[in-house]
Amino acid sequence: MQIKSILISISLLISSIGWAQKPTFDIIKTKNGTLQIQPILHSSLVLTYNNTTIYVDPYGGAKMYKGIKAPDIILITDIHSDHLDLKTLDSIDTSKAIFILPEEAANKLPKKYGSEMVKLKNRQGVHRLDFFITAIPMYNLPEDSNSRHPKGRGNGYIITVDDKQIYISGDTGDIQEMRMLQNIDVAFVCMNLPYTMDINQAASAVLEFQPKIVYPFHYRGQDGLSDIETFKKLVNSKNKTIEVRLRNWYTSN
Ligand code: ZN
Repeated sequence: MQIKSILISISLLISSIGWAQKPTFDIIKTKNGTLQIQPILHSSLVLTYNNTTIYVDPYGGAKMYKGIKAPDIILITDIHSDHLDLKTLDSIDTSKAIFILPEEAANKLPKKYGSEMVKLKNRQGVHRLDFFITAIPMYNLPEDSNSRHPKGRGNGYIITVDDKQIYISGDTGDIQEMRMLQNIDVAFVCMNLPYTMDINQAASAVLEFQPKIVYPFHYRGQDGLSDIETFKKLVNSKNKTIEVRLRNWYTSN
């Protein structure tokens, strides 16, 4: 009896330690390997496949990437400092990184970066290492002259790795190009006002393009964090087969 209670307290201790830490990574089985997905901060994440590492929108300083292999590819979605964070780029090892980014972001990047720089316009694609990367439109509605995210400047991305397709929304409004996506295995979808979508728009879009797995990300807005629990309920009340993965994107420890 005593041993049993010791075991219970040990397992409680382990689970409480686990709870306190930033989640490490998720694994997606592909046909020929495994893809590792690591949420970092806001809209930054790290994907690793076959020992090749992609950093998306590195942000928050070198401490966020401690213990993670230096990037082989850096994907940048747009010019704002939560996506093109020069301070963070300066603090991590970018010596072997191929930069894939929109032209306007490339123009803001100091010349010292990147053994290779690939500028993509919306709809263009490129194959590097184990990945095929396609730029997808991301923009705000209505399309007017003072839009924070005008059409054509920034890129969302679809990353094809082995038999899986990973969608990264970038900072987008509720646009047709997102709703029309097909065969998305994993989607990272933004939801914060006033610059992207609210949770109702994001849930409605996700219900239309039906990714197998969705991660709400980029959900810190002017009034704090969006209610991602309600987002999950909105999605799963209409479609139980879409797996909504809630992760902690805003704690650094
Ligand atoms: Zn942003």
